[in-house]
Amino acid sequence: MQPIRGTKDILPKDIEIWQEIYKIAHNTLNNYNYSEIRTPILENTNLFERCIGNFTDIVNKEMYTFTDQGDRSITLRPEGTASIARAVLSNKIYLNNTMNRLWYFGPMFRYERPQKGRQRQFHQLGIECLGSNMPIADTEVIRIAYNILMQLNCETDCHLEINSIGDINERELYKIDLIQYLEKYENELDEDSKKKIHKNPLRILDSKNAKTQEILINAPILQNYLGKISKTHFDSLCDNLDYLNIKYVINNHLVRGLDYYNYTAFEIKTNETSQQNTICGGGRYDYLTEQLGGPSIPAVGWAIGIERLITLTKRQLTKNIMCSTIYIATEDFKTYETIWKIIDILEKYKLKFELDITGSSISKKIKKAYQIGINICIILRQHELESNSLIIKWLKTGKKQIIPISRLAEYINYVKNFF
Ligand code: ATP
Ligand code: MG
Repeated sequence: MQPIRGTKDILPKDIEIWQEIYKIAHNTLNNYNYSEIRTPILENTNLFERCIGNFTDIVNKEMYTFTDQGDRSITLRPEGTASIARAVLSNKIYLNNTMNRLWYFGPMFRYERPQKGRQRQFHQLGIECLGSNMPIADTEVIRIAYNILMQLNCETDCHLEINSIGDINERELYKIDLIQYLEKYENELDEDSKKKIHKNPLRILDSKNAKTQEILINAPILQNYLGKISKTHFDSLCDNLDYLNIKYVINNHLVRGLDYYNYTAFEIKTNETSQQNTICGGGRYDYLTEQLGGPSIPAVGWAIGIERLITLTKRQLTKNIMCSTIYIATEDFKTYETIWKIIDILEKYKLKFELDITGSSISKKIKKAYQIGINICIILRQHELESNSLIIKWLKTGKKQIIPISRLAEYINYVKNFF
């Protein structure tokens, strides 16, 4: 039996990196007064249709949608923002605070062709800063993304691209001219882009097709259609980033996949040229809550793809998360009172331990400890127990010490310094 195509088991050998990322996110976001939120994986299909837009790839072809037994159309969430906006409205969170800084971590589902960096179930860490239309909010969220990447030692492998996609009216004007331009080259565009000309022409800008990109070189650029407010917003973001020394590239073709963005759009990409090189995508979405029938709540946020992030960080992290376990090898389990005493102590000092609970001989148990790379092995043999003692063996150096059980706590306290 294989897992479903495009899904992966996260095995115990890999889980520590996931926990490390969660921990870093938790600490960093706590520092910035963000609160974690967990929304259901199942939502009504029309939430995504209303938020993300019918002409986007996600809604058009990537959603996992099914009809439940009550004849409702249900979708496994393809992203986090729509659900957060829904949760903010349905729980009326905005009534208590005008500012809400929220973060999430969890699985997302998109029916895409599985390949390197692209799965059908993948995970995102995301943040949403709701309640401010100030460019400094955009800067703060970008700074947080950088901060997290820095703690994972991978900020030098990435770069930030930013763009302003203006407001709806500015984009409408731009679309007219862009469509007019693209129509001239319609036959030369890739198949996917051809379909988008009238439905979602902006998405053609980030087509990965080389010929299409060549055509786009002389296309009108959105920057020239921005009004004063859009421009000032963008300039202020740039000033803030300059001040923070966060390097960026302005990418006129960066539009993002989802309809709900306005003003700022950004992506953090790895320096590789592969197509799946975007680690983090985000931007401002001031109209989403209104689009869902709620009050106007300007907002900005991002989502980081965890699987893609891990391929970037794995190398650096494995060094730090090598675990040390204290192994307990006993002749038998008749001496259970001593065994529980030892476990009590290890628990108290919060040291990771493993009691060998197999029926093997003690020499086999010690051999096993060697095999799995254990350093410290507590050995309980009748011979030493008769004088209320046990053996501590440091497997890496071969050093062996006989310790009275009454002094074990003291010894473990000393051992702790080696972790
Ligand atoms: P792409 O252009 O790669 O399809 P996207 O614009 O669809 O990305 P977003 O919706 O912005 O991606 O999601 C944010 C991040 O989530 C992406 O930058 C990426 O790291 C990750 N991501 C998106 N789709 C997938 C997927 N199918 N498998 C793994 N990670 C994904
Ligand atoms: Mg996509």
